[in-house]
Amino acid sequence: MAYQLIDGKAIAREVRIEVKRRANEFFINTGVKPKLAVILAGDNPASQVYVASKKKACGWVGMESASYEFPSSVSEKEIIDTIYALNEDKSVNGILVQLPLPKHISEENVLRAVSKDKDVDGFHPMNAGELMRKGANLEPCTPAGCIYLLKKAGALLSGANAVVIGRSNIVGKPVAMMLLRENCTVTICHSKTKNLKDYLQNADIVVSAMGRARAITGDMLKKGAYVIDVGINRMEDGTIAGDVDFESAKEVAGAITPVPGGVGPMTIAMLMNNTMIAAEKQYG
Ligand code: NAD
Repeated sequence: MAYQLIDGKAIAREVRIEVKRRANEFFINTGVKPKLAVILAGDNPASQVYVASKKKACGWVGMESASYEFPSSVSEKEIIDTIYALNEDKSVNGILVQLPLPKHISEENVLRAVSKDKDVDGFHPMNAGELMRKGANLEPCTPAGCIYLLKKAGALLSGANAVVIGRSNIVGKPVAMMLLRENCTVTICHSKTKNLKDYLQNADIVVSAMGRARAITGDMLKKGAYVIDVGINRMEDGTIAGDVDFESAKEVAGAITPVPGGVGPMTIAMLMNNTMIAAEKQYG
């Protein structure tokens, strides 16, 4: 069966081009560039790569970025004090705390400290709550990227059966809320779900964020399903695999994202978009 490859890299580029246009307009109107502050604690190599790509993307769209890097031994207070200072700093429009944080630091306390108006990751409890009610000004980047990809690929969301695999606060739950807002009938599956395949066989839309390499195979999917693979799983040979076994899934799916080159680039593009939204709101 012919499937549609959902090219996240190309779609993310379109989003970044539009953000670049807005950032330029913002600069013309205000004389300043939108600015993202990134906080990185510890020496997690993956986090260092993510932060570098986020900073590179800022440069690409014509935004400023600044990073605040701390050793793993940093105290929670030191990070929170830095966030408070950034909240007050008018030259900073967006604040991102790269997760995971060192184990002795409470992510909850740190994420709560970020001003809700500069919370470009959309993780602050106020923004998470607003997402559930009527939609938040700043919504989590990866879930927003998933919805953007589905719409761009032409998925008919209203009335569709959507299965989200994973219930984390940063991907599973918010993407489920967004699909509900699009009038999907949403089922959230997780590590305690029995017979995942039974749910998937009836799913027109699948968003997988479970972090299990190639766990979803073609035989589990409904013919023609739109499959969004959020998973990033590092394999022993150094390559990256998604949650979905692409080779077997593409024989059944109607549309599917690759890994890499699917959701990953969209996450960064949506972060740029959120920083733009935050800057525009702060300048009225
Ligand atoms: P997480 O570990 O917090 O959550 C994983 C979820 O999967 C849990 O809710 C768990 O219940 C569920 N799960 C685990 N095993 C399962 C199973 N066998 N069957 C059904 N459900 C199962 O992870 P997360 O932070 O939500 O991230 C999920 C994946 O997405 C990871 O691979 C992560 O690297 C990736 N990710 C990618 C991006 C991106 O930009 N592409 C962004 C964030 C996360």
